[in-house]
Amino acid sequence: GARRAATPRLTASTCCYCGVGCGVLIESEGDRITGVRGDPDHPANFGRLCSKGLALAASAQSTVGRALRPELRPSRGALRRPVDWDTALDTVARRFADVISEHGPDAVAFYVSGQLLTEDYYVFNKLAKGLVGTNNIDTNSRLCMSSAVTGYKLAFGADGPPTCYDDLERARTVFFAGSNMAYAHPVLFRRLEAARAADPSIRWVTIDPRHTDTAAVSDLHLRIQPGTDVALFDGMLHHLIWEGRIDAGYIGRGTEGFDDLKRAVRDMTPAVAASICGIDEEDLRTAADWFAASPATLSLYCMGLNQSSHGTDKNLALINLHLATGQLGRPGAGPFSLTGQPNAMGGREVGGMATMLAAHRDIGNAAHRAEVAAFWGVETLSERPGLTAVDLFDAVAGGRVKAVWIVCTNPVHSMPDIGAVRQALQAAEFVVVQEAFADTDTVPYADVLLPAATWGEKNGTVTNSERRVSRVRPAVGPPGQARPDWWIAAEIGRRMQARLRPGTPPLFPYREAGAIFDEHAALTRGRDLDMSGMDYRLLETAGPQQWPLPAGSLHGQARRYEDGRFATASGRARFHATPYRPVAAATSARYPFHLTTGRLRDQWHGMSRTGRVVQAFSHAPEPALDMNPRDAARRGLRAGELVRIRSREGELVLPLNTTDDVPSGTVFAAMHWNGRFLNSGGINEVSNAAVDARSFQPELKHAAVRVDKADEL
Ligand code: SF4
Repeated sequence: GARRAATPRLTASTCCYCGVGCGVLIESEGDRITGVRGDPDHPANFGRLCSKGLALAASAQSTVGRALRPELRPSRGALRRPVDWDTALDTVARRFADVISEHGPDAVAFYVSGQLLTEDYYVFNKLAKGLVGTNNIDTNSRLCMSSAVTGYKLAFGADGPPTCYDDLERARTVFFAGSNMAYAHPVLFRRLEAARAADPSIRWVTIDPRHTDTAAVSDLHLRIQPGTDVALFDGMLHHLIWEGRIDAGYIGRGTEGFDDLKRAVRDMTPAVAASICGIDEEDLRTAADWFAASPATLSLYCMGLNQSSHGTDKNLALINLHLATGQLGRPGAGPFSLTGQPNAMGGREVGGMATMLAAHRDIGNAAHRAEVAAFWGVETLSERPGLTAVDLFDAVAGGRVKAVWIVCTNPVHSMPDIGAVRQALQAAEFVVVQEAFADTDTVPYADVLLPAATWGEKNGTVTNSERRVSRVRPAVGPPGQARPDWWIAAEIGRRMQARLRPGTPPLFPYREAGAIFDEHAALTRGRDLDMSGMDYRLLETAGPQQWPLPAGSLHGQARRYEDGRFATASGRARFHATPYRPVAAATSARYPFHLTTGRLRDQWHGMSRTGRVVQAFSHAPEPALDMNPRDAARRGLRAGELVRIRSREGELVLPLNTTDDVPSGTVFAAMHWNGRFLNSGGINEVSNAAVDARSFQPELKHAAVRVDKADEL
């Protein structure tokens, strides 16, 4: 007889890739995701999806490479063997508790991920800081946006962007600084394109050493030398001050520190700045004039500013421009850092980093520590600063940290100087890897592998670039024995608590994700990000919401600082002098090329998901090193042949691609390719571990390298 076509189940959720945070509708039948489309009601994307979002169903359908059962290595050198969950959970709890009892709480460390949901992040942070008593919990978001955090905190007194997505349609001049937004945040870029199509007088300026697809459609492309952004911004500010184009009213009403800043940029004339940046002085002046004169200037920035040994200064120098010209606190204007990962913002909210406490509180602030300790019902929190990503793996290598628990991230690909990370994990006494995928570069180092649920299977929330909290909902159950990340953390937390603090009230009583969210939201009460009015019910009925949303409010706040009052002690925004400093690894006769890194259009991060989808390779089928054709000709290198890229840290081999998209003297490689596609860990084999002194973010955007034919040694 005729069979009725089954109606697919529809589950509203959020895309798990970039920080745009697009709403999706997942179609599923039984235990299979059959399709994914854009959610027309979601305020980030209104139904649009980019190529990565469109491929979500294809990647979710594959269980190839998934971690499906807990595994345990009985002894070093032995193979891991499948074990039941109880054995795995007990083993991790016992080994961690033993190290803590013998060597103290700072002998263990947690390295988590901006891919985790806020609820996962919250439980891990409580486990480290509340139960264990260490601040050694850092995240791959350290590699992504920590310079944006320090920039906002220093300038405005609180983390988080002052802007919102609605500003994309209201801006009259848009600066893309260190962001190839056409590839990295495509749906927001489409919104900008639509706004410009409706009003062709809107101007776009791109600041990037490379001729990206974003630069190609901009009115002005400032093709600066890698790492010279601060000189550019200071030179623009010099021009505006000395030409009288600053907003003295705004500076007087809402800021402090301008006179010191003015003195600091006195010598950075447009001529000096243009020569450091390698651009025309006239272009610099034009950019500055457009920035100041526009009715609303919006700056969109990302890794090009953040992944730098002076990333904080790059952020501050750009914010200085906004403050000096009053381009802030009204529709369409402001400095808008784009978060790379889907939940980098949520990680900041729960304080899931070595340098912060929950709800934007500070480790160094005794009152803040006491507030969180009282809320959790523990005696004290540690005041010892935690280890940030690069230092964390150094401490593992040096034996100070003996046990490390890596969650939902692949440091043997994404950290700078991969060779050093490998050595660290080899030296560690005990390595736990909690992962949805069993074939990452990091999993071979695991003594215990804990199989995690992933997108399409998990329940919780993420916060996107505009501070908007969206629900992530499960459409299907996890495969095999995989479990939600918060569940694994809470189960091990309970077992560790029984060993370390027997008889104390339970710290991890959660039965479902919503209870964790409620605890998190309550801890934000009275803080700048107050979301104490938010719960799953409100998100269900009113849709995704921005913070702040204090108890009693029904909707979040789109823009911050519109009244000209900031979160600093004085209520004024602070200017900061940002003296220009060159990149950490200078080029030399031996390492003559600037290497910079970036993203491809259709791939995401380490390709755990997109690398399983055939159509994701049609745009860029294989890894490559991009080099200017003149540089290639001078060195006798031909397109398509294999070249060896070497730095002081390491080397790798890639096919050569010649293109004018990179200027002479600079080479480029995408950061996605890793050990699944290369016989190396990827481009970070040659990156260096220099970090920003305030944000501790590594300079993943620049290395000094040499490039030779692969067969010549
Ligand atoms: Fe997903 Fe980002 Fe693409 Fe939106 S723009 S569909 S969040 S990858």
